[in-house]
Amino acid sequence: MKTAACFPSRAPASRGAREASDRCDAEPVGMDAAEAISKTHEWFEVNSGWAPPDEDELAEWLGDGVCRCPDDCLVEPEGWCSHGLASWWLILRAMDPHR
Ligand SMILES: [Zn+2]
Repeated sequence: MKTAACFPSRAPASRGAREASDRCDAEPVGMDAAEAISKTHEWFEVNSGWAPPDEDELAEWLGDGVCRCPDDCLVEPEGWCSHGLASWWLILRAMDPHR
């Protein structure tokens, strides 16, 4: 007598199908811009001495294809540093979306 092997067919969760629920820890790699921005605002609350760049400074960075973070890390304009802080460009744009 043969026992029919009847396993419930549970295909391994296909990757990428449910990206919305795919949230990982505060690893900078897995972050998106919104997370970087909110993390930066938390950083603002516990750090003093930071000041937003003026427009000329920002324009100069963007002209070079880079941008600074509030902790002085150099990143891509739309990126964030390994500490999880968003670039000034992202932050200022988020603060003032009408610009
Ligand atoms: Zn940094």
